[in-house]
Amino acid sequence: MSDILPSLLVERRTSTEQPKDPAPRDLASQVDDLYDRFGQRKDMGAASQAPNLPHYFLLRTFLGQNDLLVILNTKRCRYQCAFCTLPAKSSKSWIPDAQVTAQFGHVVHELKHALSVIDRVTLSNEGSILDEATVGRSAVDEIVTAIGRMRRVRRIEIETRLEFVDSGRLRDLGKLARRAGIGILTGFETVSEPIRERHLKKRESLTAFLSGLDRVAEAGASLTAYVLFKPDPAMTDEEAVLEAKASIGFLARECADRELPLAVRLNPMYLATGSRWARTAETGGGYLPPRLTDVMRVAEEQAANGVPIYVGLSTEGLAGEEGSYARREDYSPSLVRYVKQFNDGGLARFPWDEILAAGAGAR
Ligand code: SF4
Repeated sequence: MSDILPSLLVERRTSTEQPKDPAPRDLASQVDDLYDRFGQRKDMGAASQAPNLPHYFLLRTFLGQNDLLVILNTKRCRYQCAFCTLPAKSSKSWIPDAQVTAQFGHVVHELKHALSVIDRVTLSNEGSILDEATVGRSAVDEIVTAIGRMRRVRRIEIETRLEFVDSGRLRDLGKLARRAGIGILTGFETVSEPIRERHLKKRESLTAFLSGLDRVAEAGASLTAYVLFKPDPAMTDEEAVLEAKASIGFLARECADRELPLAVRLNPMYLATGSRWARTAETGGGYLPPRLTDVMRVAEEQAANGVPIYVGLSTEGLAGEEGSYARREDYSPSLVRYVKQFNDGGLARFPWDEILAAGAGAR
């Protein structure tokens, strides 16, 4: 309580806006409002309004740890994958290093009372943090050095395409934050070469991906890979299950061969408004988003096989419910609660009897 009250008071005193609702609000309503605006439901799709402000940040739990996600506003990603509209949020022009580091400074100041509980930091720029054509090397160095001063942080996850990974560069980053290991977060998407090229326009062959894996392993870093569930809009639900298992199996084998620690984020595909992938799905007719229970079954099975796995529930603010798993007949909000418990490491198996009895998950 004592932590909450002063911040509420400060917010009131510093606000210059007239409250829209003049009626006095009780403390619980104020917390409700703050929780909605700054908690898990915080708007992730909005673009930064200034070069010294990030697109987004959130302190969240991830596999039982406190993870600070920071999405920096930098020059936009040079790729245009068919399923992704994220680069459109970012700047067409270069953002100077000082402004990029100011963005991280803004986050740190906003979270100053929570710095001592942060276990890991995930750095993203809706593209590739290691692409020096979009974000300056010095800015990344300065931010990683600063993260190194957060004494509890043991992992820094850097989002990037693997072509920008250089093992020497990763080792150097590791030296800037010695308590923390460096992890690479990358979009693998699918093991299917035709889907990668034809449907996703990924412009990254499996050969290129594997040579990137070699460099991540050489640096002694770890890998977290996104896998898309149902990456071809024409897939049936059954094909989507088989394809996701094949993609995760491929990653697990390739990482084991390189003694590279792997975690998977299994993301149900969604219709990102305005993307080429969404247009193809919509014009094809009869598109059905993935069933969340299929995603849960694959995640549960792969976790039992020893692959740390996290189910991505977010549509990153880029799709409505109509374009996501929430549209399918098996969906119920209670599934989200179970998935969150699974993601936090509090549930190894989903209670299928309970789920089916409640009417969700019916095939
Ligand atoms: S998926 Fe990644 S590489 Fe492709 S356009 Fe989106 S941000 Fe860029």
